[in-house]
Amino acid sequence: MSLRSRRRVVLLGATGSIGESALRVIAAHPDKLELIGIASRSNASRLAAIASSHRVRHVAIADEAAAKLAAEEGSVPRDTILHAGERGLIELATLPEADVVLVAVVGTAGLAPALAALAAGKDLALASKEILVLAGKFVMEAARRSGARLLPVDSEHAAVAQCLSGHPRNDVARVILTASGGAFRDFPLEKLSQVTRADALRHPNWSMGPKITVDSATLANKGLELIEAQWLFGLKPGQCAAVIHSQSIVHCLVEFVDGVMLAQLSPPSMTFPIQRALLPDSATRGVDHALDLMKQFSLDFKPVDESRYPLYRLARKTMEAGGVTPAIFNASNEVAVEAFLDGRIDFLAISDVVDHTLQNVPSFEPTDLPSVLAIDAEARSIAAERCRRSAGSRITSSPSR
Ligand code: NDP
Ligand code: MG
Repeated sequence: MSLRSRRRVVLLGATGSIGESALRVIAAHPDKLELIGIASRSNASRLAAIASSHRVRHVAIADEAAAKLAAEEGSVPRDTILHAGERGLIELATLPEADVVLVAVVGTAGLAPALAALAAGKDLALASKEILVLAGKFVMEAARRSGARLLPVDSEHAAVAQCLSGHPRNDVARVILTASGGAFRDFPLEKLSQVTRADALRHPNWSMGPKITVDSATLANKGLELIEAQWLFGLKPGQCAAVIHSQSIVHCLVEFVDGVMLAQLSPPSMTFPIQRALLPDSATRGVDHALDLMKQFSLDFKPVDESRYPLYRLARKTMEAGGVTPAIFNASNEVAVEAFLDGRIDFLAISDVVDHTLQNVPSFEPTDLPSVLAIDAEARSIAAERCRRSAGSRITSSPSR
């Protein structure tokens, strides 16, 4: 491949965990990939370091104040162009020279740039699953309208896409996503009320950003992924399931109507699905080693125990309810996880906040994006109030904490 045919990549969320893995993939394939734009919320010094080492031309900082400071202090290299605010992220996502936009921004802040990238006909490599849970209908419509490709980065969904490839959709009975079970999969249930932020962030298999690590401990992550799978692969709720698989080596199982299953296996490293999304047209030498079958290992599977993971049960119900219910689930979960990470609420309060919000925000079938965004805002405000009450009752009931 000549340098002129390299795929030009824009990476939103470059300073995060997915961002790090994506940079490793890009650095390993200088003949195939070129990084032309990077963005984050506020980490200007890390963006500057990436811009220098990868010779990136465009840098965006979403936080206006941080962008202003970076411009005043000249913290990004002189030959880069600095873009500011959400507008700046959209400018990067629609750069005429970009071929693929990787959205790896935590939560739903990447929605507008993702929609803009699709409208501009760019391939969208999507890590931020929350975007599909919030607005799957409108994201999929945007992709259909422009003919742009939506390439899953989430390891399970990248695996499903591979297993489905070449099979008529009517042949597929079910898609089963695997879940590691997170930090507390073997933890005594009666002690879950005492777990700390540090406990929840100790994931057994994956090294990831804090929000998704907590979502893995509650299994909200797998719930979000079932909804993500529904949108990506056009599945009915009854066709999406999950199973606990503690080794995180099998990423999905696709069951066909004749009872045969296909599985996809790789070591637990995000470089595998990221590379598939950035270079979707052919398999290329991997960054990390393949599984070593000369070493003994086992694979086990067990059903999800919903009494351990109430948020998984809520997410499944949410998926069945449809309409804006998944958006309410996602918004309240984001607010509650942030409160837990800030030390304002206990671990078990996360599911209480989500349950309360689901019961207090009415659902409907959305016909436009603004109505979904309004529900998202309403759910966030109700969830935030519930967090305040939860924090207040914690202080009253245990003054020593
Ligand atoms: P991290 O917390 O490690 O990184 C988050 C990134 O998002 C940082 O670059 C951060 O910038 C940036 N960011 C946060 N808010 C904004 C904003 N408003 N505008 C622009 N950028 C912003 O998260 P992860 O990399 O773990 O996860 C990113 C996404 O990928 C999530 O949606 C997650 O669910 C998904 N995902 C992650 C996996 C993983 O292995 N980590 C696996 C599958 C999916 P800054 O550093 O400046 O704050
Ligand atoms: Mg995943």
